[in-house]
Amino acid sequence: MTPVDEFTEIRALAARVARDVYGPLADQMDLDRTPVSREQRKRLGDLGFLGIAHPERFGGSEAPLAQALAVIEEFGMVCRPAAFQIFEANTGPAQVITHLATEEQRERWLPDIISGERTMAVAISEPDAGSAATDMRTSAKLTEDGYIINGTKRWISNGGEADQYLVYCRLNDEPGAQGIGAIVVDRGTPGFTFGAGERLMGFRGIPSADLYFDNVQVPASDVVVPAGDFGKLFGVFSIERLGNTSMSIAIGQAALDKTLKYVEQREQFGKPLVEFQSVQVILADMVLLVEAARLLRDRAAAGVRSGELPNSLHVSLAKCTANEMAKRVTDLAMQLHGGNGYTEEYGIERLHRDSHGWAIAGGTPTIQRMRIVSEMLGRRFDQRA
Ligand SMILES: Cc1cc2nc3c(=O)[nH]c(=O)nc-3n(C[C@H](O)[C@H](O)[C@H](O)COP(=O)(O)OP(=O)(O)OC[C@H]3O[C@@H](n4cnc5c(N)ncnc54)[C@H](O)[C@@H]3O)c2cc1C
Repeated sequence: MTPVDEFTEIRALAARVARDVYGPLADQMDLDRTPVSREQRKRLGDLGFLGIAHPERFGGSEAPLAQALAVIEEFGMVCRPAAFQIFEANTGPAQVITHLATEEQRERWLPDIISGERTMAVAISEPDAGSAATDMRTSAKLTEDGYIINGTKRWISNGGEADQYLVYCRLNDEPGAQGIGAIVVDRGTPGFTFGAGERLMGFRGIPSADLYFDNVQVPASDVVVPAGDFGKLFGVFSIERLGNTSMSIAIGQAALDKTLKYVEQREQFGKPLVEFQSVQVILADMVLLVEAARLLRDRAAAGVRSGELPNSLHVSLAKCTANEMAKRVTDLAMQLHGGNGYTEEYGIERLHRDSHGWAIAGGTPTIQRMRIVSEMLGRRFDQRA
């Protein structure tokens, strides 16, 4: 089913580039666990796909967030390593720069991200701080020569590959969220090293690694968010959650499309699988799940212009639904593909592997459920009490 929105033209362009340029590379990137090359990323920048939701004065299109999500979705159906670049630039840490950085910092960092010249990853999670992000221990101490960072970050997508890292860390001794801010660190800064590439179940063209900070010195002018503004940081993170939601929708839609074709071709007991009523029921369930997730995502993104934030309740509803939809729909797709679904050849197992990664990244469905209830009741639940 073709999504109904006002972005027909850019969707068509994205779908064509994804299919013709990046689609043929997708299988190999998954097998070799290699990301898109710098040239392939710059091509995305040249086409304007990396700056859709960023201000025009830095080279972006200043288009509605929903337009960036539509492009992420088109690429996500075909080649997730390429889609990841669009996701990261439009909905990832660069949005923190657009929303919360000074104008001087924006001028310094955004044009290169939008052109594809450089990439920025986000580093929040730590070995002992996942869902409980405010338990993070990485610290940046102010000295006469700027900040000195020490600590370890874990599960960082594009870790080792990205040129810059938006590192969430403790900027003072205040407990919990109050001491947390964010600082940009360049790859190559002395004392900043990476762990071995993780061998993840999915996400195989999207590198992941630990980050190690051993007395890493950065100028005070690279602090983007001062201590105490953690709430604002997480407000902007709702944009990343919609990018994540769109990846899950892409995965569900791709599994559905493949399955609709397959059940018309594959025959058993002398007729195509689609002729069996129980198969039709499964297909209908898949359509229901994909469409419901997309509608929730569309509601969350509706009317959000460049520089604005989505409603966080709507975002949690969309992310939770889309993450679980993608796991379920790819599972049903595998069931309807039989043995073929369990091979690499049909691409279903890859979709299933990737669906799990997107559900863990950006806050698990369980954590989204907590946020949903908090928002509905207008109160916070202390997980430590
Ligand atoms: C593919 C992938 C990409 C990622 N990319 C990044 C990245 O780029 N940058 C980054 O900073 N991080 C990244 N992460 C890390 C991700 O944000 C964390 O993995 C996630 O927040 C969960 O943390 P955890 O893995 O420590 O699990 P835990 O927090 O240990 O959770 C384990 C389980 O316990 C549940 N749980 C936790 N707390 C509660 C509670 N209070 N009540 C009920 N259940 C609970 C969780 O829902 C989960 O099911 C990525 C992770 C993955 C898998």
